[in-house]
Amino acid sequence: MPALDPAIRDALEARLRFYRELGLTDFYRRTTGVSEASSTTELAAPSTTETWVEEHEQNADPSQETNPIPPRKSIAQPPAPAAPVAVQDRLSELKAIREDIGDCTRCALHKGRNKIVFADGDPNARLMFVGEGPGADEDAQGLPFVGRAGQLLNNMIGAMGLNREQVYIANVVKCRPPQNRTPEPDEANTCSPFLFRQIDVVHPEVIVALGATAATYLLGQRQPLAGLRGRVHSFRGSKLIVTYHPAFLLRDPRQKKEAWADLQIAMRELGLKPPTKSAS
Ligand code: URA
Repeated sequence: MPALDPAIRDALEARLRFYRELGLTDFYRRTTGVSEASSTTELAAPSTTETWVEEHEQNADPSQETNPIPPRKSIAQPPAPAAPVAVQDRLSELKAIREDIGDCTRCALHKGRNKIVFADGDPNARLMFVGEGPGADEDAQGLPFVGRAGQLLNNMIGAMGLNREQVYIANVVKCRPPQNRTPEPDEANTCSPFLFRQIDVVHPEVIVALGATAATYLLGQRQPLAGLRGRVHSFRGSKLIVTYHPAFLLRDPRQKKEAWADLQIAMRELGLKPPTKSAS
């Protein structure tokens, strides 16, 4: 590998330090037809959102992300919100929901699961993320978003100036669908009432729906993601923002800029300022 010009190396180090301070730690290099030197130069100046991921995979099929629920299958309407829960009672109320789920056999997903994935994070969080359902890592550990998509979600949360312990994370379905397929409407309709109860207890100011499955079952309507993103919805007394699922962003990193714009809407609603460059 050719030696790097010291001035370029210094500039590169300074830029990487800056991104690290922003909480952005993973980088990828475009590999298509670029020399070692030019790809290094590209790494020196990534856009903020490009740094959420360490590698550039094949582009995804956007239709899978925007319209994964089969038409003509009904989407249950969320019930009316429950009465507010006092801050000091939220943890015990969440435990009660987990106990109600029990060793669940209400839908076919129980047959293939190892662990029920209930949620992770702060019962009093101002910000909640809702995903689709557990993957292999989550099924093994019993925690949401702990695999590669979870790494990216952590980086997205970090870019917002928060950490994972400050937010609440849950899924539409709590058992892993076989081969990570999209949950069937009957599975999602069976499980989502528990999610609605979790939302009512945590009562976050802002909910971010990650991907079309979360958006569909939260809002109770099937619509392409494009029609739902970029604006603030109202949901059970919270503001709801729709963005791409991190797994989709891993497959198509070009969409990260759009996802960052969505997260900035969430930050604006929460009164959060993007982390700033430190003086050093
Ligand atoms: N994808 C999801 O939607 N949820 C998880 O918990 C992990 C991956």
